[in-house]
Amino acid sequence: MESEKPRTIAYLCPSCRQLVIVQRSRFQLAAADSRLPCPCGKSELKLKPLGDRFEAEIPCAFCGRSHRVQCAAADLLDRRAMAFTCAASGLPCCAVGEEAQVYAAARRMEETADQLSGEGEEKGTFLNEVIMHEVLSELKDIAARGGISCTCGSREWSLKVDHSAVQLRCARCGGVLRIPAACDDDLEDLCCRTTLTIRGRE
Ligand SMILES: [Zn+2]
Ligand SMILES: [Zn+2]
Ligand SMILES: [Zn+2]
Repeated sequence: MESEKPRTIAYLCPSCRQLVIVQRSRFQLAAADSRLPCPCGKSELKLKPLGDRFEAEIPCAFCGRSHRVQCAAADLLDRRAMAFTCAASGLPCCAVGEEAQVYAAARRMEETADQLSGEGEEKGTFLNEVIMHEVLSELKDIAARGGISCTCGSREWSLKVDHSAVQLRCARCGGVLRIPAACDDDLEDLCCRTTLTIRGRE
């Protein structure tokens, strides 16, 4: 029976940067507070049932803080996949749902974190390693201050790193902002910015 399948919950530990993926039954989640610690012992996700809602406290690898958020119990317990997003950066920082969907979402979280930190790429992948590294760290600062949004109103986005540029893609409308990361001028342009706006699709 569909409802007997456990729920899968994933977040990225801000301390050790590993994915924490756990399974709990609907009954376990609904019956009592859950604490889902990272094996490193330095972070834990908390879920608290509040009748028809849940309160979650999520350690966030993107801004380094914890987010206390609420969602409908029906979403947390029954939706195929849902995500909590970082209030500062707009990036998904926790996924809940069916196993396959959550694993896919968790891999995207890990990729985004790797790309933002300039890790997870082979050496020689970038046209200019130093500039790319600086551009990513600048982007991370702007994201952590909540400076990235789309003209469609969305503040959720994903990030993809290319050979000589970074692409920010709006999670709602698919609009793309391309940020060149090849030369000193590219970095200087970015350093003057406190906000970045993705031009959304109509
Ligand atoms: Zn950890
Ligand atoms: Zn955050
Ligand atoms: Zn958009």
